Amino acid sequence: MTPAQNSHSIESTLLSVRLKERIVRGGPMSVECYMDACLSDATAGYYPSKQPIGAGGDFITAPEVSQVFGELLGLWSYAVWQSMGSPDPVIFAELGPGRGTLMADALRALHRLPGFVECADVVLVETSPLLRGVQQETLAGCGTRLSWHERIEALPPGPLIVIANEFIDALPIRQIVWRGGQWRERCVRIGAKGGFEFCDGPAVASDGLRRDAQLQQLPEGSILEIRPAANETVAALAGRASQAPLAALIIDYGHEATECGDTLQAVSRHKFADPLRDPGAVDLTAHVDFGALKDAAEAKGLRVYGPKPQGALLLELGLEARLEKLCEDATDDQRDTLVSGTTRLVDPEAMGLLFKAMAIASPDLPPPPAFGQSA
Ligand code: SAH
Repeated sequence: MTPAQNSHSIESTLLSVRLKERIVRGGPMSVECYMDACLSDATAGYYPSKQPIGAGGDFITAPEVSQVFGELLGLWSYAVWQSMGSPDPVIFAELGPGRGTLMADALRALHRLPGFVECADVVLVETSPLLRGVQQETLAGCGTRLSWHERIEALPPGPLIVIANEFIDALPIRQIVWRGGQWRERCVRIGAKGGFEFCDGPAVASDGLRRDAQLQQLPEGSILEIRPAANETVAALAGRASQAPLAALIIDYGHEATECGDTLQAVSRHKFADPLRDPGAVDLTAHVDFGALKDAAEAKGLRVYGPKPQGALLLELGLEARLEKLCEDATDDQRDTLVSGTTRLVDPEAMGLLFKAMAIASPDLPPPPAFGQSA
């Protein structure tokens, strides 16, 4: 075991101890609290203490698979900026930028088009100081004004274009369980053998639970997932849309309509792991409920487009033409890498279907590129 792995397992063990202390003192903790601590604890949380993305990490994301992903999102942003009347300044923000690869690729494409980069204040919304450092390195010399914020609420006012890839899936979820004719909070407690285990917690008032009435016929033990932090993100966007034009492109894995099911998953070194083992040492995510996101955005007066499959989005944004152009100057090996990477992004059996794209915009803007009609 390398020293780095060793010290990490110590951090994870200490986080386990602290979580157990909390449970002993306060009783079972909600899945949301557990997930939040595992992902965001300042010293032992997954994002603040790990560099998770890439072949040597735990999981790989679309911008790490192919440069074409970020380039096409850059082109999408350019067209949206033009549809806003080319405002100067415009805030170009990315939520959860990981290693900064997507933004670097987007800016490289944007530098080839007139006007945008001179007007853009590029803002990276990132909570992890470790990843912020990586993003600073990746984006050094990218030729635009850059700044970092921890929360979307802290962005300066003005016209805003947002991109977010695999950001929402990293926000904590609540799980509620249908048991004995009522919803109960799903919680985590300490089991007989001393490890963590799931249990039913207190009853939850069903007021405000989406489509609760339709869900009453559910089998015993059905699980519904709710993501308060995603609704807060949408509310923050909506709060700005009343002041200045706004457009956001959200790409993530998940389902189109709200449905029951336990999608909490842990991934370590590109393999599924137990979400209740090694808190802080493994990635925890859950499917994005695009139906709930759409409802939240529409309830705030925003216009929603999609979701549509990632494959369809990228093909409509010109993936094939971009690939051909890149292949012109490539060696055989580079060409193989380019073709296999872009295929993985659009192949329905790889990332093309499971990953979906949804645009959220001010109601007075025209439909953004690749989203001909509002949903
Ligand atoms: N978009 C990147 C990385 C996805 S991983 C890519 O496609 O490669 C999730 C990212 O969101 C990480 O950068 C993580 O540190 C960040 N993150 C997680 N929770 C966050 C929060 N509440 N606010 C801001 N960033 C967050």
